[in-house]
Amino acid sequence: MRRVSIFGATGSIGQNTIDLIKRAPDAYDVIALTGAGNIAQLVEDAIALKAEIAVTADETRLGDLQAGLAGTGIEAAAGAQAIAEAADRPADWVMSAIVGAAGLAPGMAALKQGTTLALANKESLVCAGKLLLETGRAHGAEILPVDSEHSAVFQALVGEPMEAVERIIITASGGAFRDWPIEDLPKATLDQASSHPNWDMGQRITIDSASMFNKAMEVIETREFFGISPDQIEVLIHPQSMIHALVGFNDGALMAHVGPPDMRHAIGYALHHPARRHLPVERLDLAKIGTFEFRAPDDQRWPALRIAREVMARGGLAGAVFNAAKETALDGFIAGHLKFTQMSDVVEQTLEQMDTHGGHIDATMTLDNVLKTDHLARKVAKAATEQRAR
Ligand code: NAD
Ligand code: MG
Repeated sequence: MRRVSIFGATGSIGQNTIDLIKRAPDAYDVIALTGAGNIAQLVEDAIALKAEIAVTADETRLGDLQAGLAGTGIEAAAGAQAIAEAADRPADWVMSAIVGAAGLAPGMAALKQGTTLALANKESLVCAGKLLLETGRAHGAEILPVDSEHSAVFQALVGEPMEAVERIIITASGGAFRDWPIEDLPKATLDQASSHPNWDMGQRITIDSASMFNKAMEVIETREFFGISPDQIEVLIHPQSMIHALVGFNDGALMAHVGPPDMRHAIGYALHHPARRHLPVERLDLAKIGTFEFRAPDDQRWPALRIAREVMARGGLAGAVFNAAKETALDGFIAGHLKFTQMSDVVEQTLEQMDTHGGHIDATMTLDNVLKTDHLARKVAKAATEQRAR
């Protein structure tokens, strides 16, 4: 039996992971499941999977969690510290699917145990890629990509020499506003930004797809994961979301990964790696689909892509500032304080201000420094949001 833990079990990635685990219950010994507000879901899954412990990030909900698990023998705990401690429990495979920088500390804790980390939480690579990878190496822990584009690249690279890689192309659907007139973007509502043409995902990543901040994060994630230089990474708009990424080699070949937009493929690949096992995803009928379209991305429509290049050029802790500013700006848009197009203004202003404050971006990358920088960048981004608040 493989011991598995799922961080962010109640979310979209977490639930897709649980769907796969439930199909082979005898193969897995579930250690920890974590969530935040959705206690009913956490309780239901902890009981169904016979978890050892269930943890909620929300300390005010500990009583509800304890009540739901009463008499089951399953432990209950609450708070960020309890989540990080759950990651200290020995496991063979951990799914990192908390949304936001909150996923960093438990991911680091799991790696320190030498546990294989299936990484959906791209924020931790953007904030602290070097630190995460070094920690994995130091403890002999493997990090497997779960983001669909990065899983696709990872699969296209099996058996290939990295020296032969000329470029990596990650695709983007273009999100909710791909075909909107640019001048209408400031009027985009929360509802409009929260619906994705192809993927069914959590609300935050869906809005990030419309603004292309998700792809901006993924460009940085590509750089960290595969260690190639920023000028070797391209973004390609592909409205059908069926080619997830392409790797270009020095002999002119392009290896493309094609599959349905269903995260259970990438999750399942990481779960069974290095084996391939049957997965319950749609088999594509390419003759029926007929056409794949491609377009170049437009920096004017999506300033996030340009900002990602600036962040990579700055290096150091710029990724932590970028991620914190992006999360804060997104909170501002969700709360109705910012217009859709003002999110990128807040992120740029935060990057500029943190740079002129000096010292922060070049600080050594330790977990403590990353968390401090994250905290400070959120304050700066909050002030930048308040300046603009409607
Ligand atoms: P989601 O919002 O559906 O779920 C997030 C999970 O994190 C929930 O379990 C929630 O309870 C938990 N959580 C939220 N705030 C927390 C906090 N402060 N502390 C601890 N736990 C907290 O998000 P999702 O769409 O499943 O995305 C999860 C991660 O996977 C994100 O990093 C996202 O970028 C990445 N990702 C998601 C998809 C997708 O298809 N949904 C695809 C690629 C990558
Ligand atoms: Mg992705």
